[in-house]
Amino acid sequence: MIDLDPIQPICIAGHWRHGSGDLYHSLYPATGEAIARLHAASLADVEEAILGADRAFRASGWAQRKPHERAAVLYRVAALIREHSEALAQLQRLDNGKPIQETRSLVASAAATFQFFAAACETLEDTLTPSRGDFLTLSVHEPMGVVAAITPWNSPIASEAQKLAPALAAGNAVVLKPAEVTPLAALALARICDDAGLPRGLVSVLPGKGSVIGDALVRHPLVRRVSFTGGTRTGKHIARIAADKMMPVSMELGGKSPTLVLADADLDHAVAGVLYGIFSSSGESCIAGSRLFVARQHYAPFMERLAAGAAALRVGDPADERTQMGPLITAQHRESVERYVELGLQEGGRLRTGGRRPQGEVFDRGYFYTPTIIEGLSNDARLCQEEVFGPVLVAMPFDSEDALLEEANASCYALAAGIWTRDFQRAWRLGRALQAGTVWINTYKQFSIATPFGGWRDSGLGREKGRLGILQYMEQKSLYWGLNEQPLAWAGGQR
Ligand code: NAP
Repeated sequence: MIDLDPIQPICIAGHWRHGSGDLYHSLYPATGEAIARLHAASLADVEEAILGADRAFRASGWAQRKPHERAAVLYRVAALIREHSEALAQLQRLDNGKPIQETRSLVASAAATFQFFAAACETLEDTLTPSRGDFLTLSVHEPMGVVAAITPWNSPIASEAQKLAPALAAGNAVVLKPAEVTPLAALALARICDDAGLPRGLVSVLPGKGSVIGDALVRHPLVRRVSFTGGTRTGKHIARIAADKMMPVSMELGGKSPTLVLADADLDHAVAGVLYGIFSSSGESCIAGSRLFVARQHYAPFMERLAAGAAALRVGDPADERTQMGPLITAQHRESVERYVELGLQEGGRLRTGGRRPQGEVFDRGYFYTPTIIEGLSNDARLCQEEVFGPVLVAMPFDSEDALLEEANASCYALAAGIWTRDFQRAWRLGRALQAGTVWINTYKQFSIATPFGGWRDSGLGREKGRLGILQYMEQKSLYWGLNEQPLAWAGGQR
C-alpha cells in the first residue's frame, strides 16, 4: 500500500509533501539496510500542522457531526486497516524488525481499536444529574481541540491507533509524532484516514526528532492535550511543560514488572508464561515481566527448565513465520542492553543463559541479541530496578509471601505484574496487594481494548482503552437549564 522507493512524503495539515527538515533513512533492524528515505518535519512544519489542525477542528464540522456519522468514518478506517492488513504487517516488520506473526497481531489490534472507539463514540452518554432547584442539570462532554500524540518505536501501529481512534472519536484534531526511527506505520494510518473520508487537516503526521518536533508540539499554545507513550524521563519532561500550560496529559511510561511463581503453580504454564512475558517482542515491551521471583523450593528445577526454554527460542529473520524473537530496534539500543548485562555481572550477577550476540550469517548485519537470564542479584541491584527494554530477565528465589510482596512492590515503576498459582484465594490476596496498573493471574501480556490500561507511579498517569477511554480526550461541562417562569428572587423576582 506504500511504495517505499521514492522519498516518502509526510502528512502536514492535509497536504502530502516532503518535510522541510533533514533527509534521513529508516533502517530495517534485521539487516541495517535503508528501507525508506524521508525528510523529517521542521519547526515550520510543526507550526503549519498545528494551525491546520486548529482550522480543521473549527471549520470542518467534524466535532459537530452526529456521533453515528463520526463513527461511520472510524468504522471505515477499521475496515481499510483490515483490507490492507498484510501490507501493513509487512511494513511494520520492516519499520521496527518485529517478527511477522507479531506485527500481524498489532495490525489486527489497530483495526479493533478503531472499531471499538467508533462504537464508544456512538454510544457515549451524557448525564442528567439530580436537580437541586428549578433547573435541569446536565453533565456533557466536549472535544478539546488540537491533541498532540507522541509514540515510541516498539509497537507503532497499535500505540498510534490507541491515541488516534479515541481522540478522533471524541471530535478532536490530532498531530501525531511517531518515533523518529519508526515513521512508516503512522504515515500509512494517515493515508487510511484520508481514504476513509476523514476531513483533511484533522490528522497530521510529523516524523522527526522528539527533542525538537515533540518538544515544540507540547509547548504550542494551540495544543490543548498531550497523549504520550514512551520513557519515564521524557514523560516527566513533558509533564513539566504541561503543568505550566495547565494542560491535561496522559502518560504511558516504563516498567520493571515482577512475575511471581508460587510453590503451587502449574510449572508448565508458568515456564511458558514467563518466557512469553519477558522474551516476546525481544523484551522491548513496557510490560515485559523482567523481574522474576520463584518459590525457593522450586527455584532450581524451575530455572533449569526456564533457561533451557530461553536457549531454545527461535531468534532470527522477522520475515520467517517461525521466528519468535527478531532484532533489537537499533545498534545503539543493543549496546545499551549489552551495557546493562555487563552492569548486572559487575553487580555480582551470574549469567544463566544468553548474554551475547547470536552467531551466524543471518545475524551478521542486524541488531540481534540472545535471550538472557541473570541470577544472584538482590532486588535493590540496579539491574533489578532499571528498565532495560530488552531480552534480559533477572531471577530471584523467595522464601515468604510477605517478603515477596515487599520486594515485588519495591520499584519506582508499577505498570504490570504476573502471578502463577493454583490457589484462588492466594491469587486474590496477592492480586489486590500488588501495586500495578495491570495484574495477570495464570496468564501474561494478554489484552482487551475494552479494559483500561495504564501505570502507577513512574509508570504513568491516566488510562488508555476501555469504553471511557474516549473521555480522556474530552472536557467535561455542566449545564444548568432554568425552568422557573419567575425571575431569580434575589434580583427582583418574588421573594
Ligand atoms: P522515548 O525516548 O521517551 O521516546 C518516545 C517518544 O517521545 C518518541 O517519539 C520520541 O522521539 C519522543 N520524544 C523524545 N524526547 C522528547 C521531548 N523532549 N519532547 C517530546 N517528545 C519527545 O521512549 P522510547 O525509547 O522511544 O520508548 C521506550 C519507552 O517507552 C520505554 O520506557 C517503554 O517502557 C515505554 N513504553 C511504554 C508503554 C506503555 O503503554 N506504558 C508502551 C510502550 C513503550 P524520538 O523518536 O525522536 O526520540
